[in-house]
Amino acid sequence: MSKKLTEEMVLAALRQVQDPDLQRDIVSLGFVKNVVIGSEGKISFAIELTTPACPLKGQLKAQAEACVRGIAGVKEVDVTMTARIRAAARQAHLPNIKHVVAVASGKGGVGKSTVSANLALSLAKTGAAVGLLDADIYGPSIPNILGIGQPKIAGDNEIFFPVSQYGIKVMSMAFFMPADKAVIWRGPMLDKAVMQFITGVEWGELDYLIMDLPPGTGDVQLSICQKLVLTGAVVVSTPQEVALSVAQRAIFMFQQLQCPILGMIENMSHYICSHCGQREEIFGSGGVREASTMLNIPFLGEIPLNKELRAASDEGKPLVVAAPSSPTALVFMEIAEKMAAQISMRTFVQ
Ligand code: ADP
Repeated sequence: MSKKLTEEMVLAALRQVQDPDLQRDIVSLGFVKNVVIGSEGKISFAIELTTPACPLKGQLKAQAEACVRGIAGVKEVDVTMTARIRAAARQAHLPNIKHVVAVASGKGGVGKSTVSANLALSLAKTGAAVGLLDADIYGPSIPNILGIGQPKIAGDNEIFFPVSQYGIKVMSMAFFMPADKAVIWRGPMLDKAVMQFITGVEWGELDYLIMDLPPGTGDVQLSICQKLVLTGAVVVSTPQEVALSVAQRAIFMFQQLQCPILGMIENMSHYICSHCGQREEIFGSGGVREASTMLNIPFLGEIPLNKELRAASDEGKPLVVAAPSSPTALVFMEIAEKMAAQISMRTFVQ
């Protein structure tokens, strides 16, 4: 006669499943919830991960299923995958936001805003609550990329409500600026205006706030890093040497301000000819990966130079929304997952 199935037996089996990022088993991490021993050898339980964007979700589920199936007497296993994003240190300025992530670059025009928008949308597609703040006051392009235009912003002079688009909440300095006018604030005035703008937005509860910073290492980046508690920054660069050397300057700034670097992203990495399929390396290739190894920073991925990506942004419907199963959209999903994994690794405290 087979032994009666118990919760302890299920948990013992699940101790064999390791989370490769956190390097502990899923039981001691507290991920296993709601174990139910049903009749006729049916077991069900949930695995609660630290982010819905976990790249190893499928792998962990399959392993957990296999381990429990291996218990004598088990006939059926039903695993539900859930996620609860644990917050980084709470901050006075943005208390309802679990993670603030800055997207930075050394130089303008390397695709920082394109990456910010597609990353924010990729995270939202995994089920996370996401906001996107366009803090690129010199060239705010997020409203165009997301097809928002010049909306009427609700709120009074101190509190503003973000606009919802494609499942994320969005706020941009451009919403308050007449089109075709440059911002000519500087120094302390600029600093004050940006902070007022950032902290005056009523975001509600968010898992991730992606912040598209201006390029370079100026006053705005400095005050954001000093006054907000950022979970980390990601740095976008093309593989071109000149872009890369200024990207390194941005990295040094974050390091000096003790802001963790979650990773580097290579954009405009290579071009695949749509006619012959040949790979061309227009700005060189692999330079960002090499730099990240040298600087001991995670490498999050490489985005090809892609006409559809540019056209989708120009049309106000970013690629991960316009063509979610295209190869480049899948690259963005992968980068978002890697970034979320970096965040989980840095903030997971049970
Ligand atoms: P930044 O925010 O760094 O100034 P943008 O995101 O505004 O850069 O990108 C600059 C231009 O390059 C935009 O027209 C954008 O559509 C285009 N672009 C960005 N990344 C790519 C890419 N991988 N392939 C093709 N065009 C791109």
